[in-house]
Amino acid sequence: MINKQVRLAARPDGLPKDSDWEFTETPVPEPGEDEVLVKITHVSLDPAMRGWMNPGMTYIEGVELGDVMRAGTVGIVEKSNSPALSVGDAVTGVQGAQQYAVAKPRELQKVDPSLAPLERYLGILGMPGMTAYFGLLHIGRPEPGQTVVVSGAAGAVGSAVGQMAKAKGCRAVGIAGGPEKCAYVVDALGFDACIDYKNENVRAGLKAHCPDRVDIYFDNVGGEILDAVLARLAMHARVVISGAISQYNKSKFSGPNNYIALLSARARMEGFVVFDYAKQYGAAAVEIVKWMNEGKLKTEEHVIEGIENFPSAMLRLFSGDKRGKLVLAVAEG
Ligand code: NAP
Repeated sequence: MINKQVRLAARPDGLPKDSDWEFTETPVPEPGEDEVLVKITHVSLDPAMRGWMNPGMTYIEGVELGDVMRAGTVGIVEKSNSPALSVGDAVTGVQGAQQYAVAKPRELQKVDPSLAPLERYLGILGMPGMTAYFGLLHIGRPEPGQTVVVSGAAGAVGSAVGQMAKAKGCRAVGIAGGPEKCAYVVDALGFDACIDYKNENVRAGLKAHCPDRVDIYFDNVGGEILDAVLARLAMHARVVISGAISQYNKSKFSGPNNYIALLSARARMEGFVVFDYAKQYGAAAVEIVKWMNEGKLKTEEHVIEGIENFPSAMLRLFSGDKRGKLVLAVAEG
């Protein structure tokens, strides 16, 4: 049995290239004492992975050259030498861009495949869903009637943020790339409006769709869009720094020019890392599932087949050629 793996071959300069990756095939490993073998079904593709490719770009250490690329995963226990997990159990973890991995049970979380398809545990029931929940509710602190603007609105995190804002009685305005994504955000997800940043003037759109200005801006993209929203803040607004995907392929990040808008609006800008809330994920998942069952929270995964498509699939995060949570199905046979 062969384990196909994707390894980091070079540190990218700008957008990752095919030559930044190496594909290897190794024998499937045997689990040792108190370990399990997981057959990985899906690998998560996340913007944070771009940061892990160059040391010093993020809050955790980068991936070493030659190592299997770090990635969130979901899969099925195929062999178990631990009483904590049985063959057939479905588990999530950070097992990397490969088809099989050996792990200790404490490195894995058991999930229920009867409640949702496995790939959903990498999306709304996993890290992106938690990011939306804690970033919006704990940092943004929405109140009924307030206006919430979110960028990356058709993506894994952003699509959830706007719907959670609606569930909390807010006005939700998205920012996304292209008319199709904007139509999806409004018609399928129920946002009040969406600004197409690729074809519209964002400042004019904010003026039109946020008549009472912006109480919460959930920023997934940074750059010029962040500056545009800063110019439209309401008094005591909260700017939630979730990410800055427009900057991840640049050698030097550009910060907001318009930060002084925080002063006039007596506003607050605050970053967060979702893993700090790990102990509260269970309670968040209960509320997320409740919203899903009530039809208030819709979600979508964009599944690409085949581990060999890892390099091109990852680039879709930056081109925007995908909708909802991007995952790679890697199991064979
Ligand atoms: P995603 O939104 O599903 O995918 C990325 C999207 O970003 C693309 O679909 C694209 O949508 C948009 N995009 C790409 N380049 C852009 C640019 N130059 N300007 C504007 N938009 C651009 O990704 P995600 O997993 O939900 O992550 C969203 C953000 O959350 C990322 O910044 C990520 O780093 C952050 N995040 C933070 C934490 C945390 O703990 N703080 C945890 C997870 C994720 P369009 O087609 O609309 O352009």
